[in-house]
Amino acid sequence: MYLNDFDVLTGAARVQSVSVDDDGRTDVVLDRTCFYPRGGGQDWDTGAIRGAAGEFAVEEVRLDPEGMVHHLGNGPIAVGDEVSLAVDTTRRVMNTRLHSAGHVVDLAVERLGLPWVPGKGAHYPHMSFVEYNAALAPEETEATLVRIQQAARDVVGAGSTNEIRFMPVSEMGDYCRNVPDNIPTNKPARIVLYSDDFGVPCGGTHVRDVSDIGTLTITKIKSKKGVTKVSYAVEGIN
Ligand SMILES: [Zn+2]
Repeated sequence: MYLNDFDVLTGAARVQSVSVDDDGRTDVVLDRTCFYPRGGGQDWDTGAIRGAAGEFAVEEVRLDPEGMVHHLGNGPIAVGDEVSLAVDTTRRVMNTRLHSAGHVVDLAVERLGLPWVPGKGAHYPHMSFVEYNAALAPEETEATLVRIQQAARDVVGAGSTNEIRFMPVSEMGDYCRNVPDNIPTNKPARIVLYSDDFGVPCGGTHVRDVSDIGTLTITKIKSKKGVTKVSYAVEGIN
């Protein structure tokens, strides 16, 4: 359910299976879910699944290769239960702002006309960065940091509404400058349009308006062996 809109944090579902994982935690699969499983460099949601028997505390959420979402935690729950879902809003909003900030760094790089090819990224409170296949001379690092930060802050400051679109991977090239060849096939294929024209193939959670990100700071740029790593922080988070 989180894929369809920007802030689906509650919902109703039915319990499909209950098992025990290797760590002794209860593993719950639902017929639908708004819990985000860790993926794409974004951390999982926590929260609660409530039914007639009481509350199941969701500690971790994982997506398996078949596209099933596993809610791991503890509490009373049984197959067939009709339950209500409640994602921990504070944690989700934090992860969403951090993740969206990574895309705005990409957008800033694009706006500056830097011929950098995006690689991997991480959007965790203790570690937020985006990497590019790009070489950068040491003497250019500081000036580039300042330029990217300014361009990113300009995007956030201007504000713009993001848009979600579902489409086959083969059509993503019409909207996205970079379409990785390893797009996961265990989630519906989706792009998010930032700032009207900057599409990103992504199954993560995103802010509705880029201004919701807040103050974005580029904390460090490091370039080594053709890989340039841009680390960033969002005020109030990291
Ligand atoms: Zn993303």
